Amino acid sequence: MATIMPQDRIGAAARNWLARGPGRLLIGGEWVAARSGAVLTATDPSTGTVIGQAASGDAADIDAAVRAARTAFQGRAWRRMGPHDRGDLLLRIAAMVEAHGDELAELETLNNGTPLLFTRAQVADVARTFRYYAGWPTKIGGQTNPTGGNLLNYTLRQPVGVCGQIVPWNGPLSSAAWKMAPALACGNAVVLKPAEQTPLSTLRLGELLLAAGAPPGIVNIVTGYGETAGAALVAHANVNKIAFTGSTEVGKRIVQAAAGTMKRVTMELGGKSANIVFADADLDKAVAGAVTGFCTLSGQICVAGSRLLVQQDIHDEFARRLVAAVGGVTVGDPFDAATYMGPLVSAEQQRCVCSHIDRARDQGARLLLGGTTLDRPGFYVAPTIFGHVDDSMALARDEVFGPVIALIPFTDEDDAIAKANDSAYGLAAAVWTRDGARAHRMARDLEAGTVWINTYLVVDPVSPFGGFKQSGLGRELGRASIDAYTEQKSVYADIG
Ligand code: NAD
Repeated sequence: MATIMPQDRIGAAARNWLARGPGRLLIGGEWVAARSGAVLTATDPSTGTVIGQAASGDAADIDAAVRAARTAFQGRAWRRMGPHDRGDLLLRIAAMVEAHGDELAELETLNNGTPLLFTRAQVADVARTFRYYAGWPTKIGGQTNPTGGNLLNYTLRQPVGVCGQIVPWNGPLSSAAWKMAPALACGNAVVLKPAEQTPLSTLRLGELLLAAGAPPGIVNIVTGYGETAGAALVAHANVNKIAFTGSTEVGKRIVQAAAGTMKRVTMELGGKSANIVFADADLDKAVAGAVTGFCTLSGQICVAGSRLLVQQDIHDEFARRLVAAVGGVTVGDPFDAATYMGPLVSAEQQRCVCSHIDRARDQGARLLLGGTTLDRPGFYVAPTIFGHVDDSMALARDEVFGPVIALIPFTDEDDAIAKANDSAYGLAAAVWTRDGARAHRMARDLEAGTVWINTYLVVDPVSPFGGFKQSGLGRELGRASIDAYTEQKSVYADIG
């Protein structure tokens, strides 16, 4: 990877790493160029300048990575690494991530525009995820079942095999950790494909995994485009499982393609999450939660609270308060410590978000704030609020993946549930109320994989994460990932 622009906003470690030009594919423990020699460019979305190049892998590179993973999966080093040692490996990875935390956060901020405030928290989440899964290898066991007679039956939980993992650009390190940590805890081998927009931080993470002692070939990283590298990984006959995070549209294609070889699939897809505010809520907290829900990562977050359901009586007051609060959100250079909201990831994403805004205007939604790009370099869109949005408008139904929120009035609890559940998606929801019983009734009735009560955006590796309906298939994190990365085997023995 040749550094094209000197980056004076990042520390010496990240700068030196970029200057070293290590942007190759990680295959079988070696850093190699793409067989075709093709490259892709990485851009700093806060300035629009190219910051480096990474290898653009294709089907041939994926095939090499899958072979390396299969060999390592069956190899002695990995097979003989017992549960205690696998746990220790994950702890060393966590420590390594923490030791290089600033560097990783800076590379992430540089390549996807997420403010340092959040990339630092994400790196902490990466370490926490590896540490959480470090506790699992010693606890992944089977059970004995009461068959009777002279039969003994017991089950074994064994790794699935070679796991293809495909992740998006909005949280490259977190997404990779959520997938790699449990896969390794369960004894699998991995081929990871980062998003083409954001190859940098994951390549550095790959170096740290090797330095922590991951056996060669157990983790392979192939940067490249979705239609080439990603599709080849999904189609490969020697891949046992695909774990995907990305758009629902691509997820559907992957499920179809994976069916050809009956791969196990887990899907973390899009969302249109309902953030529901009752009139009896602590409105200061609810306003802060609404801001968090659509401004964090500039709204480029799968669980964005992009549908703000507000009880009719307080709609206008809440809208006023929200407009005032968002006026205080600092939008700017993601390297500035005061910045809460940075740019969108790319010019394409900026165009896409602007087209959602234009359509909402055309359909008669009332613009209360924002609605424009910012007059500065980089791919910025101002935080944008629409009020009195009708349920039937595209803005109430389609995922925008940008800093755009739609206020939708509701009358009572039943109406709130009906409106919240009237969506193809079901990733997350939140309820703001001082009535505890109502909060739990809502939590019971909302069709969403995660429900927050009087809070927003809390995710912990201890608890399963995923979507109802078209927001996903299966769950990640917690015990759920252990189930997803193991096969169960039933053993019968005649002991008569
Ligand atoms: P995307 O679906 O376009 O791309 C995601 C990944 O899939 C990238 O690595 C891409 O290269 C790859 N890909 C694209 N086409 C492919 C194909 N045909 N075969 C195999 N791989 C292919 O999504 P995006 O625009 O990068 O990310 C934004 C989307 O991700 C949003 O919809 C968001 O809600 C979703 N997301 C979901 C979660 C979750 O946990 N549910 C988390 C983050 C993002």
